[in-house]
Amino acid sequence: MPHDPAVYKARAERLHKLAEAEHLLILNEINIRYLTGFTGGDGALLVGPDWMALLVDGRYITQAGIETTNLEIREFKNRTDGISSVFQEKGARLVGFEPSAVSYGEYIRLRDSLPQASLQPLSSRFEFLRAVKDDQEVGEIREAIRVAEKALTDLMSLIKPGVTETELAIELEYRMRRGGAGKLSFDTIVATGPDAALPHATPGRRRVAAGDFVMIDYGAVVNGYHSDETRTFCVGSPSEKQREAYQLVLGAHDRAIGAIRAGVSCGEIDGIARSFLEEKGMGRYFSHGTGHGVGLEIHESPRLSAGKSDILEAGMVVTIEPGVYFPGEWGIRIEDMVLVGKDGCEVLTVPGAGLVEL
Ligand code: ZN
Ligand code: ZN
Repeated sequence: MPHDPAVYKARAERLHKLAEAEHLLILNEINIRYLTGFTGGDGALLVGPDWMALLVDGRYITQAGIETTNLEIREFKNRTDGISSVFQEKGARLVGFEPSAVSYGEYIRLRDSLPQASLQPLSSRFEFLRAVKDDQEVGEIREAIRVAEKALTDLMSLIKPGVTETELAIELEYRMRRGGAGKLSFDTIVATGPDAALPHATPGRRRVAAGDFVMIDYGAVVNGYHSDETRTFCVGSPSEKQREAYQLVLGAHDRAIGAIRAGVSCGEIDGIARSFLEEKGMGRYFSHGTGHGVGLEIHESPRLSAGKSDILEAGMVVTIEPGVYFPGEWGIRIEDMVLVGKDGCEVLTVPGAGLVEL
């Protein structure tokens, strides 16, 4: 993460713009990392109109000092007591919190220990805190993609009849880790033949056979930033139906990418991919959303799914991933990552194109 105070100042300004309360309690580790640079776990970030305090336990005191600038660092023995004493000291009356980061039990403990303040859940607007990426973040994402794509290129020669899904997943993950991935974006999906009809299949012992579609959904994490990409290959020659379906998914994918620009709603993009597949009689086989934001989390705002009125902004990084799944037969997904711009978008991954026959 950058040590540039200007980056964190800009993020803090965005935080205050999105928050409805003057005082904030940030418990989501990823938001804490985004706002401060602190990469440890189990911390609490307390924010006031013109101050920030990072509360950590004894294990993280040194690390917090190294990773952060321009904020108070305090050690707690009991997190709830630590939070309550800082807010009391600062005279907080209304404290906004992330509803998805606080368990009900924790909420009760916080409420009881902060009798002078009321707790207010932040609205879903707050989930857009990290949606627009700065140049440094886009750079990390590009690097994550580079590492992942290099590993997939190296894997290609191993995709042949007889190899199991698990073997391919292990080989791909190994290559990503060797190539510089701090970790994997998620458990790699390698689904072959009828397994590829399950959008989120777990790799198993099935052996690749001639004529199979092999669907690989994979990603690398570099400095906290994720890549996410899906390729579908054919082992040998595809049937006419496979070839046609692949072209239709690619058509939906290309049309959605062609429509991405700042100012367009997420639902509109989803609608472009979906209506194209519907017109071709494939609508009912496209069983998930068209895409999602990617950054410090693999799935984050915005979501590109039906009816979403959220508006794309320049600097957002999202996936476009239409797919069709024929139960018992096979499935196809083509997923790329794009950077939203003012007048269009840049495809960050090497874009999925015609069907590759291995
Ligand atoms: Zn994916
Ligand atoms: Zn995805």
